[in-house]
Amino acid sequence: MAEYDVVIIGAGIAGLVTGNYLIDSGKRVLIVEQIKYPGGCACTFGKQGYKFDGAVHWISQAGDGGIVRSILNEFGLDGDVRFDRLPAPPQVWLPDKKIKLSFGRESVVESLSGAFPDESKNLDAFWKEAEATLKQLWRLVKRRPSKMTPAGKLLFNLSFPLKFGKIAKYHKKKASEVIARYLSDESLRLVLQTMGIFQDISFVLYAWFNSVSLEGDAYYPAGGIRAVPDALANRFISRGGEIRYRCRAERIVFKDKKVSGMVANGEEISAGAVVSASDATKTFMNLVGEDKLPPEFVSDLKEWKVSEPFFYVYLGLNCNLRERGFDGSPIWYIPKDIDKKFPMLGGRALGIGMPSLLDGSLAPEGKSVLILGMAASCAFMDACPVRAESGANYRDDEHYKAVKERVGEYMIDIAEEAIPGLREDIDLKIFATPHTFERYTGNLHGASSGWSMAADRQHKLSVNTPAPGLYLAGHWTMNPGGVPAAFVSGKLAAEEILKG
Ligand SMILES: Cc1cc2nc3c(=O)[nH]c(=O)nc-3n(C[C@H](O)[C@H](O)[C@H](O)COP(=O)(O)OP(=O)(O)OC[C@H]3O[C@@H](n4cnc5c(N)ncnc54)[C@H](O)[C@@H]3O)c2cc1C
Repeated sequence: MAEYDVVIIGAGIAGLVTGNYLIDSGKRVLIVEQIKYPGGCACTFGKQGYKFDGAVHWISQAGDGGIVRSILNEFGLDGDVRFDRLPAPPQVWLPDKKIKLSFGRESVVESLSGAFPDESKNLDAFWKEAEATLKQLWRLVKRRPSKMTPAGKLLFNLSFPLKFGKIAKYHKKKASEVIARYLSDESLRLVLQTMGIFQDISFVLYAWFNSVSLEGDAYYPAGGIRAVPDALANRFISRGGEIRYRCRAERIVFKDKKVSGMVANGEEISAGAVVSASDATKTFMNLVGEDKLPPEFVSDLKEWKVSEPFFYVYLGLNCNLRERGFDGSPIWYIPKDIDKKFPMLGGRALGIGMPSLLDGSLAPEGKSVLILGMAASCAFMDACPVRAESGANYRDDEHYKAVKERVGEYMIDIAEEAIPGLREDIDLKIFATPHTFERYTGNLHGASSGWSMAADRQHKLSVNTPAPGLYLAGHWTMNPGGVPAAFVSGKLAAEEILKG
């Protein structure tokens, strides 16, 4: 008899959600996690009394009726994880303009029109289009084509352009093209582009990311981002589930062409099914092996691009940012000529998060946490001569150390343009590169959200895989990725396993 019914690789959000559903159905479940705490990208780490969210700044769909909130409620975690809405959507600052945005389409249009009065009418039309696209997207996600009968699916496909005209029109259209069609001011175009976070993002996903500004769909959990995975992990363990930390899955084992378990930290563990809630490419190429997979599946994996990774700077500050007039809303600062100073980076704006203003327990009394983030192009990673997966030594590579230092200091310089005097208040600084993200999460090239969201490169994998007995969960099975996607994918993976 198998030791476990199901072994899950990865205690990120997706692995933990899958585990909780399976444990509730009476399965014997083990989660193996390569690092020493849960959360994956949704982690929080501590140093010198500060608590830093490793990656995630806010969680969408965590308000009443949202997907994240609903799943947590299903698990009875209503009281365990308390979310507060962000005070305002991310603010956008230019060197000569601070655009103060608040929630709702009319407010967004009003604020942007205040900064760019000549574009007022066009702004109104642009945001109406984005909002209409978002509404269609919400209608679409409530439909589940995978649950339809073949006839129902055919009808759904035939009527799609009529019922979901904006999705059909904009799915493969870059947000930048739509922005350029509606608006002509170059600075305004850059501001709007920044609000979509990712370069070349499809306009449909742009609309999804802007549910934050349009609908106020952005929440922060009391205690920091890790409050969410901690609650899921504690519930899973309290119901008989097992999590082994610092335990790395090394190989998936097959018997008679079906998955029969895995090897983790050198030990063979037998299981009726394996769920990988970790990097998809590494799961298939390293843990399963090309020879066990259909060639066309392997060539897709090799060709598909991952989402842009990020550079981060975590700062502990000897000051209370509230006394300087900040309220905890994130800020996008768009400096002049960012792409000329560091062309290989690819990011055009610096994200500035101030989580200790959302939860005072994240910093010692009178101090603050500030987190800076800047997207890096995947080309930057290709150009970096050391690879995170080549082993721990990459961190000693002189070129890598120099790049890390230069980019980190550069990001602080930019932040100081936005917040004068910042450097004087720095008490602690920690730099993270895309390699750091890859080391801590396992995600290829430090990918932030699964597959690329570029208009012409959107892909996702199915929860069911070509290897019988192996399932996937996590941001590689949804597009866009993100915490809500990880929640939904965990639910879908558990449903598929329970179907048998
Ligand atoms: C910089 C950054 C900023 C982000 N900001 C936001 C945001 O503000 N809001 C938002 O919603 N989303 C954000 N995201 C995206 C979001 O965090 C992820 O899409 C989501 O958390 C993915 O969850 P997951 O469970 O699918 O995978 P992950 O969080 O990647 O978890 C995978 C887990 O598997 C483990 N693992 C990997 N390989 C192995 C192995 N061989 N053996 C054992 N364990 C293994 C890893 O250690 C990790 O714990 C951000 C991501 C990044 C990187």
